[in-house]
Amino acid sequence: METAPHPLVIRARRLAEDLLAPHAQRVDQDGVPVSHIDALRTSGLLGMSAPEAYGGAGAPDAVAREVQEILAGACCSTWFVQTQHHTPVRLLARSESPARERLLGPLATGAILSGIAYAHVRAFPRVLVRATARRGGRRFDGTVPWYTGWGLNDVMLLAGVGEDAEVVFAFADAREQPGLRPSPPMRLAALSAARTVSLELDGLWVPEDSVVLRVGQEEFARGDIPRSANTSPAVFGVAYAALRLLERAPEAERTAGALRLRLDEVRRRAYALADHPVPHEHMAERLALRTRAYDLMRAATTAAIVAGGGRTMDLGSAAQRLAREGMFLLVQGQTAPVRQAHLASLGTAPPP
Ligand SMILES: Cc1cc2nc3c(=O)[nH]c(=O)nc-3n(C[C@H](O)[C@H](O)[C@H](O)COP(=O)(O)OP(=O)(O)OC[C@H]3O[C@@H](n4cnc5c(N)ncnc54)[C@H](O)[C@@H]3O)c2cc1C
Repeated sequence: METAPHPLVIRARRLAEDLLAPHAQRVDQDGVPVSHIDALRTSGLLGMSAPEAYGGAGAPDAVAREVQEILAGACCSTWFVQTQHHTPVRLLARSESPARERLLGPLATGAILSGIAYAHVRAFPRVLVRATARRGGRRFDGTVPWYTGWGLNDVMLLAGVGEDAEVVFAFADAREQPGLRPSPPMRLAALSAARTVSLELDGLWVPEDSVVLRVGQEEFARGDIPRSANTSPAVFGVAYAALRLLERAPEAERTAGALRLRLDEVRRRAYALADHPVPHEHMAERLALRTRAYDLMRAATTAAIVAGGGRTMDLGSAAQRLAREGMFLLVQGQTAPVRQAHLASLGTAPPP
């Protein structure tokens, strides 16, 4: 028996159908507008994983995944800006830092939007950003290579490496200020619309009460690597969006049907593993499913282009946009094990 969709899923579908999908081509070319962020702020979706006691919805992970799929399939750039927000929310919900009382409520209600600047700590022992104890707080120095949502979000969760290989996470205002200088927005093959910059940090100081987590690098990696082995819901979102395009072409009916069956199966298994209580178990299977989902996404976006013919090369076509968004998802959140597994599979696997 089908269960009724969660109210947040209904809200996400409405936002996707009424606003995100109809404007996705224009947003891809011109950038995510503030009005899209305002719509997200009032939608309640920014607080979906936040505790109810702080004004959030406390929704189960399965609901959060479905919402992410819907948003990514409608407008991947807008999805990417908002998806950053959920990591700080989840981290604060577990934190004992004074920042929790100050920030978790406004983050949960959407009054403030957060970005993240922490992928660079995965490159340890190469240190791109240092966080040193200074004057009752932390001083950040170095280069954040990627920071998405500049000019759209209000705060950032920034990470650097401190003494004794400790990874320090702290909140800072997401604006130019002494010690923090953004690059111009990057022009990229995909998702230029998400306003990604790099950040030069030269003595950016944050008070100790803005520090939300200090964790040894090894312990950080123990949590981060298994998490990143799971498949991002955005991969399924983009793949299903491409299949919906494909299904409009009568001669592609069989192709679309075959890909959908395989995608449904990979999704079911990937999400079952994401819900598995021990995150570091079944690593090989998690990585294999992530790779398989990439293969199917690539097949679906390619099929949408093949079925659409020459007109899909127009920048106004949804098929080329989805193919470029899919290309971006191949590297988003990539860690060394994910890259190794993907490359190994590309060298051996038969086509989907
Ligand atoms: C458009 C765009 C926007 C992005 N926005 C954000 C953002 O807002 N916030 C954010 O935090 N990240 C962001 N990222 C970063 C993104 O998630 C990373 O691209 C991804 O984690 C891969 O890392 P990398 O590109 O730095 O690649 P690489 O530097 O090639 O690293 C890939 C992986 O290899 C490993 N590695 C690299 N160097 C070493 C080394 N010397 N020793 C050991 N292991 C190493 C690490 O595990 C690393 O994760 C963005 C990326 C893109 C393309």
